[in-house]
Amino acid sequence: MADTKFAKIIAGEIPADKVYEDEHCIAINDINPQAPVHVLVIPKQPIEKLADARPDDQALLGHLMLAAGNIARQLGVDDAFRLIVNNGAGAGQTVFHLHLHIIAGRSFAEGKMVG
Ligand code: AMP
Repeated sequence: MADTKFAKIIAGEIPADKVYEDEHCIAINDINPQAPVHVLVIPKQPIEKLADARPDDQALLGHLMLAAGNIARQLGVDDAFRLIVNNGAGAGQTVFHLHLHIIAGRSFAEGKMVG
């Protein structure tokens, strides 16, 4: 697995605007936010993309979802946020270290799945 910029952020080799950290993940403000709240939840254990996750990763994946809810609450956006995972370059993934986007603070068109 490539040494991605998120691995470097977790290792403290490049700086990031951290909003949360626990034993299994960190959350940082996205450097190029698409909404007033745009946070990335990143597992410390690298998985290239969601489709590469294995049954052994089940607890970690659950942990990331719970963390996302808690971070949204901490940021005061737990009533309305969107959680996005881009899987693969064709879906817009640019950093190949699994991460969840928490997007909030802008209006979401009713019934619209993405964007
Ligand atoms: P994705 O396109 O799903 O792989 O998302 C990667 C995200 O990482 C994009 O929204 C980028 O703006 C964001 N990003 C890239 N480099 C950094 C960085 N150094 N700190 C914070 N966010 C970053």
